[in-house]
Amino acid sequence: MSRFPAVFVSHGAPTMIIERAPVREFLSGYGGTLGRPAAILVISAHWDTDAPAVSVAPQPETIYDFYGFPQELYRLRYAAPGAPALAGRVAELLASAGLPAALDAARGLDHGAWVPLKLMYPEADIPVTQLAIQGRLGPAHHYRVGQALAPLRDEGVLLLGSGGVTHNLSHFRRYAANDAAPEWVTQFRDWVAGALAAGRDEELIDYRHRAPHAADNHPTEDHFLPLFAALGARSAGVTGQRVHASETYGVLAMDAYRFD
Ligand code: ZN
Repeated sequence: MSRFPAVFVSHGAPTMIIERAPVREFLSGYGGTLGRPAAILVISAHWDTDAPAVSVAPQPETIYDFYGFPQELYRLRYAAPGAPALAGRVAELLASAGLPAALDAARGLDHGAWVPLKLMYPEADIPVTQLAIQGRLGPAHHYRVGQALAPLRDEGVLLLGSGGVTHNLSHFRRYAANDAAPEWVTQFRDWVAGALAAGRDEELIDYRHRAPHAADNHPTEDHFLPLFAALGARSAGVTGQRVHASETYGVLAMDAYRFD
């Protein structure tokens, strides 16, 4: 069985799925590039718990956790089967790393999971489950989660972190969909790209003190944390590869990374 990379994607606004944009073109072809995993584990910014939790739902429902968007978005479904066996394995690996995880029988797929998946794997026939982030526990914790889950890459599992390289929603409505990124966004995303390409994991984990405009781009950390789970799963000596860069609404960098 081939080794899958861990991948981080920026999911932006849910309208990504119906609006023409470079990121939509990218994601639509990216599943085919990666190949077909046996199962997918999504670490989404939109499921935030106090302690690690993983869904064992046999048939996860599509969750519409967004408000004020076009009606057609609320009719889309992503009816992939759940992955309770994978969830069990996730819990086992996390427990071995001293990170016990709760099994959640009901959690479905939020838009951080199903929007990119619907573009990447539109047939919705690959078992998928979600792992929660812990928004209050910071980058180092999520990096450890990624390290603990790295063996899944050799078991045919695609680890997919879904969040945003930048995510300041207080500015989002001030820009049009195709506006260019302002400098405070560009400087941050370029810093992230450089640190990932150079394998400077410790600096990344300390990004809030080291990166330009860190708090402006992430007033809260939730959308950045899935990146650390993907980063933590990388093999020694292999650095992150930026596989997509674009922006929507000026302030939402849609960059994607793969970690082999
Ligand atoms: Zn989001």
